[in-house]
Amino acid sequence: MSENLSASQKKIKNEIVLRAIGSGAGIALLIAGVVYFIFAIEPMFARIGLSLIVFTVSFFIATKVTIYFLSGDYQCEACNATYSIELIDTEEIFLSAIPRSAIKNGGRVTSGDREGKHIVIHENWTEEKYDVTRKYHCVVCGDTYQEQGVETRKTSFSSTKTYQ
Ligand SMILES: [Zn+2]
Repeated sequence: MSENLSASQKKIKNEIVLRAIGSGAGIALLIAGVVYFIFAIEPMFARIGLSLIVFTVSFFIATKVTIYFLSGDYQCEACNATYSIELIDTEEIFLSAIPRSAIKNGGRVTSGDREGKHIVIHENWTEEKYDVTRKYHCVVCGDTYQEQGVETRKTSFSSTKTYQ
């Protein structure tokens, strides 16, 4: 596939590739870790070698697949140009802030003065809702479109422990 990309398209492509490398490495690390623990083969260097091969292969596959899927999001529907969609504006309208709390079971204390006691975790946070509108445009044909939706965010999170 030959591509004739403008400077702005190359910039968008580079960002996609960087993001894909990041998630590719994460996925590959996870798979290689699982292989390392499952295949407890001897000698040790063979076990490490196998994990390294698995890491390399899954890294390339995961990165390629991620680039493929991300690229679809950055292709202009109007002119079909690849790597051409750029976020130009974000508008947020505050809707509401609701205080929330939760109580979680933290298990039992295993040592020290409070050994055997139940740990109770009290969590508090604010649930903020925003009406978010994001405007995009195509760097090739200039077509603009926007996406709008309600986003929920957890803020002012705090957690304390008590013992029973
Ligand atoms: Zn376009």
